[in-house]
Amino acid sequence: MDDEVLIACPYCWLQVSVTFDLGLARQSLVQDCDNCCNPIEVELKFAEGYPQVVSVSKL
Ligand SMILES: [Zn+2]
Repeated sequence: MDDEVLIACPYCWLQVSVTFDLGLARQSLVQDCDNCCNPIEVELKFAEGYPQVVSVSKL
């Protein structure tokens, strides 16, 4: 089961939708920005069933 969360791109600061797997309590993933195409590393965790963004960083 997948869901998505919005983050701010660290390069261009536009919102980017990140798709993640709900089955994992904590995970990091890399996604290219839809706008500027730079790779973004996103770390997520789940608290009370809701995704929280731990960190967003440039690769
Ligand atoms: Zn961007």
